[in-house]
Amino acid sequence: MHDLMIRNAHLPDGRSGVDILVRQGRIEVIAERLPKISIPEIDANGDLLSTPFVDAHFHMDAVLSYGLPRVNQSGTLLEGIALWGELKPMLTQEALIARAIEYCDWAIAKGLLAIRTHVDICDDRLLAAEALLEVKRQVAPYIDLQLVAFPQDGLLRSPTAFDNLKRAIAMGVDVVGGIPHFERTMAEGAESVRLLCEFAAEKGLRVDMHCDESDDPLSRHIETLAFHTQRLGLYNRVTGSHLTSMHSMDNYYVSKLLPLMREAGVAAIANPLINITLQGRHDTYPKRRGMTRVPEMLAAGIDVAFGHDCVMDPWYSLGSGDMLEVASMGLHVAQMTGQQAMRQCFDAVTKTPAKIMGLDGYGLQPGCFADFVILDAASSIEALRLRPVRRYVIKRGQIISETPKQEALLHLSGRETRVSFRRQGDGKGA
Ligand SMILES: [Zn+2]
Repeated sequence: MHDLMIRNAHLPDGRSGVDILVRQGRIEVIAERLPKISIPEIDANGDLLSTPFVDAHFHMDAVLSYGLPRVNQSGTLLEGIALWGELKPMLTQEALIARAIEYCDWAIAKGLLAIRTHVDICDDRLLAAEALLEVKRQVAPYIDLQLVAFPQDGLLRSPTAFDNLKRAIAMGVDVVGGIPHFERTMAEGAESVRLLCEFAAEKGLRVDMHCDESDDPLSRHIETLAFHTQRLGLYNRVTGSHLTSMHSMDNYYVSKLLPLMREAGVAAIANPLINITLQGRHDTYPKRRGMTRVPEMLAAGIDVAFGHDCVMDPWYSLGSGDMLEVASMGLHVAQMTGQQAMRQCFDAVTKTPAKIMGLDGYGLQPGCFADFVILDAASSIEALRLRPVRRYVIKRGQIISETPKQEALLHLSGRETRVSFRRQGDGKGA
């Protein structure tokens, strides 16, 4: 646990010229112009200092497997699931751990220090769950890794899935997952939601289900999830991930659905990079965007985070662990271009997913852990515009990653000049 003084930081809430005194890995004081003491110092020089990025929806068992055993030619969800089915029997624990650790190194360099990953438990060997529990142990000093027992092939559709899910939870997997829209019928989907919520209530666990990830306007599993959340008293412990069918639902029905979600304290996670590429594949034109209704849910008082979902795997060939890329895509797809809306997009990759994951000590108040990212940007809005380097990533008061500021040096006739794309006061706005 470390002591550290950070000078002259700009915070996501708009405060500027702020010093932060860290003692024993926790924030002791946040104030302007703190007196000099003899501990290590970082000069933020007016740059944005944020709590770390948080990704509340990821698939670390598939990460960096792009091209194994072949590339997804159509780029569709169904070919991705088929491809994952081909890859699964070939997985080894060593390769899985090596790819996950490589990705965790990328994440640390991008200031991403908390990840909730789904782990497929439909393989009776539970090889991926075992591997990711080992990864969780190895990265614990740097990354809060939370595992979700995810029945990728369907809880009821896959004969051993429920038993496997219970075994995975007994092994130490943290959260109960599900995929109701992939069960054989709407009724079986609803039944899977009931069974999984009752199991989570019995064990005192959180729930995070892939829910209504389709373009079907009549997919209604989020309604069932909200119902059982309320019935079983799981308030603020349940999340619906993707919810893309909401994009296509009837507006009148949504006007009833959102207050039900709010009442039950069900959170939502949209995965903009993935769903803008996967949804609407059966459409000609006009072609639906498919991402769930983010500003409408925020306006209804529902917590909404953005997740990365995939990086270089059977479903998505791109990505680098940069949650600002995720937030930027969400901002564009949801047309959240107002100043407050852009700040909400920054929150959707920082404090909102931290709340969904139930992270302790996450925040910028005295007593919180000294876990920070200092970015080469003046504000959260400028960070979304530039997706800049993370100058410093700090865990418990210790620098764990550094990246030099990026500038181009132009050689022009008559002058040399440096270009950083930053503007003074950019994005601070009113
Ligand atoms: Zn997912």
